[in-house]
Amino acid sequence: MGIPLRQILLIGIYVVRQHLAGRQRYPLVLMLEPLFRCNLSCAGCGKIDYPEPILNRRLSVEECLEAIDECGTPVVVLAGGEPLLHKELPQIIEGALARRKFVIVCTNALLLEKKIHQYRPSPYFTWSIHLDGDEETHDCSVGRSGVYERAVAALKLAQARGFRVTINCTLFKAADPERVARFFDTVMALEVDGLTVSPGYAYERAPDQKHFLNRRATKELFRRIFRLGDGGKRWAFNQSALYLDFLAGNQTYQCTPWGNPTRTIFGWQRPCYLLGEGYAKTYRELIEDTHWDTYGTGRYEKCADCMVHSGYEASAVTDMVRRPWKAAWIALRGVATEGLMAPEIPLDRQRPAQFVFSRNVAERLSETGVSKVRSKKGPATT
Ligand code: SF4
Repeated sequence: MGIPLRQILLIGIYVVRQHLAGRQRYPLVLMLEPLFRCNLSCAGCGKIDYPEPILNRRLSVEECLEAIDECGTPVVVLAGGEPLLHKELPQIIEGALARRKFVIVCTNALLLEKKIHQYRPSPYFTWSIHLDGDEETHDCSVGRSGVYERAVAALKLAQARGFRVTINCTLFKAADPERVARFFDTVMALEVDGLTVSPGYAYERAPDQKHFLNRRATKELFRRIFRLGDGGKRWAFNQSALYLDFLAGNQTYQCTPWGNPTRTIFGWQRPCYLLGEGYAKTYRELIEDTHWDTYGTGRYEKCADCMVHSGYEASAVTDMVRRPWKAAWIALRGVATEGLMAPEIPLDRQRPAQFVFSRNVAERLSETGVSKVRSKKGPATT
């Protein structure tokens, strides 16, 4: 188990309180993206393909802390773009820690060695370092050689300085189960505090659209990986046992997109971390005015193959609170990797995908007074 007991207890208390208060839709993890700019251009990334005026924008410390206060989640994940490029990241983290939040910074770690002196270790603070596999796999995934080596060196430095360090790993179609299992063993040998794993999401703007897993392939891949690791028990995942069980095709879940509300430089992103189909000015507006029932597998074409943790971890946690014995059984026995899979949600009534990226960019640019910029893909946004 890669989640500290303190975190399990505090999140458990928070979730039970939400249920007792009768809240139907409550947030669990704030995904805070204070900038879109990154120092890498990964093939599977759909977050950074913006014109320069947008890449140059940042959320201020005040805007970040306001977002944290507005939604009130116990966990704050700082992502992007590359958060270490934000000059005021130390103040944002200090502000979140002062509010007793569990803070996780997702980073490619390229700047960690240079900037680590600006941060202090805390049981509430975790560096989540991006590694998509072994050296060859990761360097190929991020499109630059030497990145794996630098990330591992930064990981060791952070550990030596007393920080909690976890790994976040995204898997794509080409993933080889035996190689992934060996990579997980390597990560465990590095004595990291946990491992987060997820299939990639086929972002509308990801440069490489061919290498994403479909739903069936995701489940088969995870069954094969977990089979090699005693039902997943060999590795300390930083995720709930029921989410891992879902990845292996043993649970039928609908996503919980409001579980990980996302605040970017554009506002509160609708409906989830993965899809930017509109933006709300406030968290309340996001929760009250989003047409939640029009999203999710079986409802919307863009959701058909999504099994990403930002959409489903909250579904698994809700199930765990309702049926704790189910989660305890999996934690004890490991994820089932044989036998029939849970029924799949039919896709025959889903609404077709809407492609809204260019419209969003045009709207945001007009706010900044820039009327015409050619983005990296597609037509000029005017
Ligand atoms: S399935 Fe849910 S989490 Fe995934 S893209 Fe659709 S709305 Fe977002």
